[in-house]
Amino acid sequence: MDIFEKCRDFASTGFYESYGHRVYLRPLRPSAHPGEVLINGRSVVMAGSNDYLGLARDPRLAEAAVRATRLDGTGCSGSRTLCGTRDIHEQLEDACAAFLGREAAVLAPSGFQTNLLLAGLLGKDDVVLGDRHNHASLVDAVRLAGARYHRYRRDGVARAERLLSEAPPGAGRVIVTDGLFSMEGDLCDLPAITALADRCRARVVVDSAHDLGLLGATGRGVPEHFGLEDRVDLVTATFSKSLGSAGGVLAGPAEVINFVRCRARATVFTAGMAPSVAAAALAALDIVRTEPERRTRALEVAERMHNGLRALGYDTGNSVSAIIPIPIGDKVRCLELWQRLLDAGVYVNPVIAPGRPEGQEMLRISFTPVHSDAQLERALEAFAAAGRATGVIPRTPPGSFTPVRIARPPALAQETARPRSAAVPVSTATVR
Ligand code: PMP
Repeated sequence: MDIFEKCRDFASTGFYESYGHRVYLRPLRPSAHPGEVLINGRSVVMAGSNDYLGLARDPRLAEAAVRATRLDGTGCSGSRTLCGTRDIHEQLEDACAAFLGREAAVLAPSGFQTNLLLAGLLGKDDVVLGDRHNHASLVDAVRLAGARYHRYRRDGVARAERLLSEAPPGAGRVIVTDGLFSMEGDLCDLPAITALADRCRARVVVDSAHDLGLLGATGRGVPEHFGLEDRVDLVTATFSKSLGSAGGVLAGPAEVINFVRCRARATVFTAGMAPSVAAAALAALDIVRTEPERRTRALEVAERMHNGLRALGYDTGNSVSAIIPIPIGDKVRCLELWQRLLDAGVYVNPVIAPGRPEGQEMLRISFTPVHSDAQLERALEAFAAAGRATGVIPRTPPGSFTPVRIARPPALAQETARPRSAAVPVSTATVR
């Protein structure tokens, strides 16, 4: 059988197109308006990115990238192990370790490769427990290592105990989880995970790809949010989301990081991060440290949009974050709503197969602190019209809705929280 055969079959599956819509690999161009992108020459509100703090187009990051390029060139020409490491790599590693409160940190050229570093630590006899919705890169790291992988459901951490306790003597035990889940926007149950790890003498690894910079009192992510940083052994994160750059970092005890740096194939056999990319991430980390108001605004915007959408009659699932899921459960309707939103000037992400099983299609939305109040209102108006036209929401808004309580740091949460169960009357300010 020719290995190219499947490619010919694939060409007819219409991966890019679905029901006449160009869904994937949509060409986007920069817009003159912050918070917007050009699609087919028209400026639309960008509500479908992971740029949670709105830093990807911050001039300070661009400036840092340009300076680093002038100083150090456009590429590293090879592996840091063999071809040499640059000051900017070490500065970024030190800054990440200090920011995350860990002894040491090692970089990788993408968030995906950062998680593959874990393969350098795992062996085939080790037993790894992972949430069933963990990111593909965490699953691939375990596969690469040939370790045994057991998946648990988000609400079933305690029930997974048997799987760990049955690990053969001598086997390493690890629990690995996304901190904040990328589609549903909900948090891992870190208190249950760390309690289980304590009982089973397992190591805990948290992937803070979606929560770094956004959650926790100082932006250190989900472990800080739960006050459980000292119970998490390793943190992985990417710079491609809140930090507006690319690449990632694994942080933890110095001896572990040193071992990974020298042994993990995903760093030893790959070129170092481009200096510009590392410099942009370093500049972004500095902004995260010194401008907590961005995080505050990001969470305010998220809460306002969750509740604005709920007031219209949308379901935003169990998310407590800037990721706003809208379950639709039907591919045609999902794409129709998506297209109507785009026609009305709002770009969101349609999540359909292969990203989502049939019957669980959804829209994934996120706004940033860069969006103006006027853009947010425009987006809600588009959601009202498109939702009604497609029958996803009722023609008349519900009389009340259950507000979302965003995962804020405890001090901020006390000022703003309402009990999750208490319905609030619909405010005319957000509903037309
Ligand atoms: N971990 C998680 C949880 C992710 O969602 C992603 C990207 N979607 C990654 C890792 C990989 O990060 P990157 O895109 O920067 O390679």
